[in-house]
Amino acid sequence: MPVICAEGIVTRYVNYRENDRILSIFTIGHGRMDVKARGCRKPQSPLVNVCQPFVFGQFEIFTGKERNTVNACEVKETFYPIREDYERFSIGSVMLRVCHDAIPENEPNEALFSLLYHSLSYLAYGVSAPKDLFCCFLIRFLNAIGYRPAITACAQCGRDLRADALVRFSPRGGAVCAACSTQGEKVSKTALEGMRRMLIMEDSEMDRVKLSEEIRVEIINCLLSYTRFSLDFSERAFSMLEGILTAGEPGPDGRTQNEDIRDKL
Ligand SMILES: [Zn+2]
Repeated sequence: MPVICAEGIVTRYVNYRENDRILSIFTIGHGRMDVKARGCRKPQSPLVNVCQPFVFGQFEIFTGKERNTVNACEVKETFYPIREDYERFSIGSVMLRVCHDAIPENEPNEALFSLLYHSLSYLAYGVSAPKDLFCCFLIRFLNAIGYRPAITACAQCGRDLRADALVRFSPRGGAVCAACSTQGEKVSKTALEGMRRMLIMEDSEMDRVKLSEEIRVEIINCLLSYTRFSLDFSERAFSMLEGILTAGEPGPDGRTQNEDIRDKL
């Protein structure tokens, strides 16, 4: 049976039979791979700590005719601090879910992989606020999967908007000038400039993002309505997240809530 070695991040799992799981791994070279992990729920299994969301490692995978099977894994990072904080865990789980949904099996997307890896690193170990990091992740995610919204030029007439006094953000395409549309939320120059900068920075600069409460709410409202209109997946993930990001309610503490989030996704 051919064996491949693939570096990747576990995005999801589904339990089956008594001790097994189907793991979804977002790999660098092969896109998403759905693989069987036999016996991984037994306490003595060498895979017991591997078959968890957020785990990044080098996976040894047997490729079979019907189903690939993970044989071993060298764990490189677990992003453990994400699990110890409700807000970080919810936001990280949504990042995993939307990447999982956006990536077809066996279609690599290196830009998206790099974005996810850096976002999880900063969520676990960085200094930026998790909500700011998510705003930055979301606009860069849209770009990486080919759904970049218009920001600098009007989505309808293509005219440069940067000097315009009134700009709206339409779920259909992004920023639009006043002459083209009266639909969509008004968006400030500061919010547009913030989105523009988050889009062009390197992944390694994401931890520097710092938004005021007002601008963050504006950006997240624009991007969430655009995203939900444009994408036909991950609706549950985005609606769960909307509550956390826009209401600003602190969630309950403790890891007991983590299973709850998994159920909602
Ligand atoms: Zn226009």
